[in-house]
Amino acid sequence: MDLSRFPRRIYTPGPTPLEPMPRFSAALAAQCPGGRGPEVWVKRDDLLGLFPGGNKTRKLEFLVAAALAEGADTLVTCGAPQSNHCRITLAAAVKEGLKCRFVIEERVAGGYDPKGNGNHFMFRLLGVEAITVVPAGSDMGKAMKEVADALAAEGRKAYVIPGGGSNALGGLGYVACAQELQQQCFELGVSFDRVVVGSGSSGTHGGLLAGFLGGNVATPIVGIGTSRDPADQEPLVHREAQAVLDLLGVRLTVPREAVVTIGGWWQPKYSVPNAPMVEAVQMLARSEGLLLDPVYTGKAMAGLIGLARKGRFGAGERVLFLHTGGLPSLFAYAGTVLGDTPLA
Ligand SMILES: *Cc1c(COP(=O)(O)O)cnc(C)c1O
Repeated sequence: MDLSRFPRRIYTPGPTPLEPMPRFSAALAAQCPGGRGPEVWVKRDDLLGLFPGGNKTRKLEFLVAAALAEGADTLVTCGAPQSNHCRITLAAAVKEGLKCRFVIEERVAGGYDPKGNGNHFMFRLLGVEAITVVPAGSDMGKAMKEVADALAAEGRKAYVIPGGGSNALGGLGYVACAQELQQQCFELGVSFDRVVVGSGSSGTHGGLLAGFLGGNVATPIVGIGTSRDPADQEPLVHREAQAVLDLLGVRLTVPREAVVTIGGWWQPKYSVPNAPMVEAVQMLARSEGLLLDPVYTGKAMAGLIGLARKGRFGAGERVLFLHTGGLPSLFAYAGTVLGDTPLA
């Protein structure tokens, strides 16, 4: 697949590390049937550029290049109050000399705190131009268009980036990740039996799947839903993967059965902590010195741990966990992940 024909800004100087996690794998095996569990590795997309980076960095390499090509002066995007996507979009805007505005959806009533910590603190530090707060369930596309129209009325030019940067163009970032991973596997002489990734607005899961299908990589991907159960999440991922392949001009139909997600780990609500997340965040911190986030990677890893404990991976199966970032929100949930603040 030829990604070089799409304009791209480069925000990370090289591939992200691909590392085994022997101490975590050993601790996990002790909790698995017969004391045997998967050999878990991690791809460190938490080390992507626009520090503290994450999966949105890869999508924005293509999206911001398109904004610049159109002559935009302002990036407009949307997310939740602790949105990593908004923070990384803002960092890209600053780096490119653009302005940036957000529409923030208050998904949990009262969840927006103008003096909040974590990503919210960084919105202000990095100099967001304006934030419009809307209630849960609002039409985010419409709200962003209103911001773009207001800018146009002032003679400015907005480029609107959808939530999570998850459209066909943003998904190319994870086709690039699939290609990078394929090359690393070749160089290290390793192969994976499965990849586990958090599945939210679907650009990461869908883009990676498109990259695997287009590159003829047979490794199955399991998405752990971070806001939806499979009946709602899988059609999103399927649509995204197909849109990415279509944009690339790859004449393939995404097989329905190639899209696999697992529910049950994101509850009680998107971004609201649960006990398995707390356990996963602590387990990775204390076995590997690896920091997960409470909203996405903590819940995705809780899903991986849960599958392993149920014996759902073959013994010795080599599983890759895609770490998608999210570090700043850890600081907004410090008491919860330490177990000092009781879960709701
Ligand atoms: C946005 C995000 C995800 C989910 O990725 P999607 O492409 O939206 O599915 C996972 N992890 C982190 C840290 C994120 O910020």
